[in-house]
Formats: sequence, structure tokens, C-alpha cells
Amino acid sequence: MSKPFETDEVINQSPPLVDVDLFALDHPLREAVVANGGADHEAELLEFGRHWGSAEMAERGRLANENVPKLKLFDARGNRRDEVEFHPAYHELMAHSAHAGLHNATWSEKGGPAGGASEVLRGAKFFMAAQVETGHLCPITMTRAAVAALDTDSKLLGQVMPVLGTRSYDPEFAPWWTKRGMTIGMGMTERQGGTDVRANITRAELDGEGYRIAGHKWFMSAPMCDAFLVLAQAKGGLTCFFMPRFTPDGRVNAIRFQRLKDKLGNRSNASSEVEFDNAYALRLSEEGRGIPTIIQMVSLTRQDCALASAGLMRSGLAHALHHARHRSVFQKRLADQPLMRSVLADMALHVEATTALVMRLCRSFDRAPHDEVEAAYMRLLTPVVKYWVCKSAPAFLYEAMECLGGNGYVEADVLARHYREAPVNAIWEGSGNVMCLDVLRVLSRDMGAAQAVLGHLMAQSRGLDGAAEALVFVVKTLQRPDAEGSARLAVEKLALVAASVALQDIHPRNALLFAQTQLRGDRGAAFGAVDFSTPEIQQLLDRALP
Ligand SMILES: Cc1cc2nc3c(=O)[nH]c(=O)nc-3n(C[C@H](O)[C@H](O)[C@H](O)COP(=O)(O)OP(=O)(O)OC[C@H]3O[C@@H](n4cnc5c(N)ncnc54)[C@H](O)[C@@H]3O)c2cc1C
Repeated sequence: MSKPFETDEVINQSPPLVDVDLFALDHPLREAVVANGGADHEAELLEFGRHWGSAEMAERGRLANENVPKLKLFDARGNRRDEVEFHPAYHELMAHSAHAGLHNATWSEKGGPAGGASEVLRGAKFFMAAQVETGHLCPITMTRAAVAALDTDSKLLGQVMPVLGTRSYDPEFAPWWTKRGMTIGMGMTERQGGTDVRANITRAELDGEGYRIAGHKWFMSAPMCDAFLVLAQAKGGLTCFFMPRFTPDGRVNAIRFQRLKDKLGNRSNASSEVEFDNAYALRLSEEGRGIPTIIQMVSLTRQDCALASAGLMRSGLAHALHHARHRSVFQKRLADQPLMRSVLADMALHVEATTALVMRLCRSFDRAPHDEVEAAYMRLLTPVVKYWVCKSAPAFLYEAMECLGGNGYVEADVLARHYREAPVNAIWEGSGNVMCLDVLRVLSRDMGAAQAVLGHLMAQSRGLDGAAEALVFVVKTLQRPDAEGSARLAVEKLALVAASVALQDIHPRNALLFAQTQLRGDRGAAFGAVDFSTPEIQQLLDRALP
């Protein structure tokens, strides 16, 4: 018998971080859920965390990204198909997310707000699902948000909700009204304008009870959705339409895909370029009211962008910490090396504050229907949180990758995928500058409501170093006539104050630490360029991953 080859023995490598409970292990998340009204949902979240932290779910995430969707324009005989084929793992992820209500738990059966702490519950689940696979969450979040726009047409909403409101995922290519469940995508962005949708040139002509849409969309993700919300120019101006994949007589609608984008990340999700060849659609809003109609959706998709980026960072932190606890360098565990401990503790504090902030935002979504200040918080803070959380994720994930050394850079580990995934949350649903402009818009349209939120933050931030000065800067800067040019700095400071305040409700000691390092400026640019005491480092690391 031959001797085993000497290099078969593997030593000093960290074991895979799989088969973990994503909720039980995450103390900052658990505490944020309780602090924001979700205590009753603990058992459901523990079950979700165990399931999504399993090795099987991680494997589905890998497979769905390594086997990218394929565009099947024609069948073998040359008949037009316009279908996209996904790996079975993608469909399984969709089914698991739908089963957990990630695509619809915001809504009651009739399409109104679900009530209670449903947003905190759903937000915590979305945060965990993003740690496993984010590409499939694109149609999940669009479907959930679409209901807000469909609300403008109560008849259509009433027809759609019995299908959209189920917890089933039905991948069949068939008319939506025959299915067990459905998904909805969005077609807004055109070649000549994405942010500036007023520049849309796709045309809509009235045709009987419906419309015929002719034109092109430069990005339309999740092309196998059952319907799309599409912006097009009707006689009365830019209008929002509901465009199903099948026409009412059961024929395939004239939605012609041209190609799928070859993207940096988000590879399990297909993003198409598409032409509408007089495609059938129903008008959702009054002609000319397209923008106010889609605005209903964007706070929801922006909330999910922030949740997903926060989840990606949490996953990066957990992998970095896990690796550092197993890997020895110079006869000492990485997790015991002073420099590495500062890096990990600073990252842990960042994730703790981010988690507190996104869950606080979810609470405002829960309470907005009954509480004016919470409604104002939701409106003002959604772009602020989307801006800061999504912007910080790529740099964070790069640092997490570096904690794993060379392993972090290799596709076999999940961090390379997370890193490629992170920038898209900052780009879509309104890029960074657009978020800042949105904050200015809120201030100019409803200064009273915005002041109520800023006053609330000022009152809550007493004792947090640097918070009062930061808020004074925010108010002064954003009210200047030339505010646009300085809006990024003000919006970032506002996010840091809001994060400190959100964390204060959960862990006052860490809220203070976060304010000291982020608002008082006791830090350098990179993670770990801080001066924490040894006990602070220890408690941050213990909380992050017990
Ligand atoms: C993977 C992926 C999937 C997508 N899926 C979809 C989809 O399903 N449906 C859909 O409709 N769209 C989709 N998009 C498009 C996305 O929403 C747009 O790319 C995004 O809104 C930005 O628009 P744009 O690309 O036209 O860039 P532009 O609008 O040209 O913006 C370019 C840059 O300019 C900045 N900017 C814009 N206006 C101002 C201003 N006034 N002052 C200062 N800076 C400004 C922006 O912040 C941005 O950084 C997708 C994009 C990606 C990357």
C-alpha cells in the first residue's frame, strides 16, 4: 500500500463556517430585534437562522452563482422563446425566500400594511438571507415593493393579491392568474437615462382597455418575473404600467429580450436588455403620474438595499472572526494578535451600529401608518441609511477579505462573492448622490416633519460625544442655498448620529464607543485605525461571535 502523500495533511486552516444558526449567533441582531418591538418573533427567527445557516443553503448560494442564468431566445426550430434558464439552486432559494414571506410579508391579504412588528421580523430575515445569497433577493424585493405601486389600482390589486400573497414560488412560464405564486420586476432604466427617468422615450398608446408599449429598457432584472412595472410616455406624460408576460388571451406578450448583462457580481440574478414590440400593458397611474406611482416603491427597495448590505457585512465579519480564531501566525492565533484584534473589534462595532440602524429603520416602517414622527423618520432616514450602509459595505468587505489573507480572495470562500456583490446596492434604486438629493428634497418639501426627526435625534443623542455638534452641522449645511455640494458630508454625519442613537437603545456602552470613534473623529480611515482599550475589544469580539 502506498504511503499517503505528505501534503494531504491540512493543518492550520480554519474549518468552514457552515451549519450555524445565523440568528442565535448574532447577539447584536437579536437585541436589535427585541429593542424594535420584535421580541415575540424570537422562535420564528431562530428557526429561520438555523435553516439559512445550514450547509445546504450555503451550497445553493454557491451553485446559483457559479451556474449563471442563460438566455434562451429561440427553441431548436427557431421559434421565439424569450426565456431565461436558471440553475435549480436559484429556484430553490426563491422557494425558501417565498416560503418565509420575504416577498410579501409587508402586506396583509388585501394589500394593506401587515401591521405589528412585521417589518422588523421580515427585515431580520432579509438580513440573514443576504448572508447566504443576495442575487435572488432582487425579484423578491421588487415583488414586495410592487404592491405599493399596485395600490393605485384597487381592482388590479384585488386580482393580484390572491396569487402574490401566497407563500408559494411557482417558476412555471405561464400566465400569472393561473399560478400558485408570482413575482414582479421593474423596467424603468433606459439607455439615455436611469436616474433621470423623465428622459424615458418608450411610448405607450391606448389600445382598447389596455395600452401598447413600444421601446427599450437598458436594465430589466429578473426577466422571468410574471409581470413588470414599466415606465413609458403616454399622451399625458410619463406613466406607470403593469406589463404581464402573457396577454389576457394567454399568448406570450411581446417582451423581447436582447441580451443578459455580464455583471461584476449579482451573478445568480439575470439582468436583461429588452425591447417591447408593442407589448400589452395596463395603466397603473393616471397618465403623467408615473413618478409619484413608482416613488411608492422606492422606499421599500431602498430599505432592502440597506438590509442586504448590512447582512453582507455581518457575514464578512463572522467569517473574518471565525478564521482569525482558528489560524495561527508566529505561534499565536490571529485573533490574539493585538493589531488583528483592533481591526476585528472596529469591524464588529461597525456591524453592531449598522444592524441597530437598519432594524430601527424597519421599526419606523412598522409604525409609520399610526405615528407621524415615525413616518417622518422613515421618509428622511431611508435615503440616509441606504446611502451610508451601502457605501460602507464594499470597503468593509475588502477588509474582511484581507483578514482571511489569500483565502479571502479566492472564490472557494464566500467573501469574494460578497465583495463583488456589495457595490450594486449603492448603485441601484438611486445611487449615492441621488440619495443625498432625496434627503434635500425631503427637507425642502416638509421641513416641519424633518425638524421633528432631527429634534428627536438631538434629544436621544444626549451624552453621545460629538452628536450634538454633528446635528448642528447637518441642519446648517442642508439648509444652505448651496447645500448640494456638501450634502454627502451632512448625510454621512446624520447617518452616524442615527446609528449611535439606534445603538444606544440596545447597548449604551457601544453606542458611546461608536460616537467617540465616528463622530468625535478619534480614528483613521482604515478599519482598526482606532485606539480601543483591551476590555472594549474583548467585549466587542465576544458579542460579535460567541
Ligand atoms: C445589476 C443591476 C440591475 C439593475 N436592474 C434594474 C431593473 O431591474 N430595473 C431598472 O429599471 N433598472 C435597473 N438597474 C438600473 C439602475 O437602477 C440604474 O443603473 C441606476 O438607477 C443609475 O442610473 P444610470 O445607470 O442611468 O446612471 P446615471 O443616472 O447616469 O447616474 C450616473 C451617476 O451620476 C449620479 N447622478 C445622477 N444625477 C445626479 C445629480 N443630479 N447630481 C450629482 N450626481 C448625479 C448618480 O448618483 C450616479 O452615480 C439595474 C442596475 C444594475 C447595475
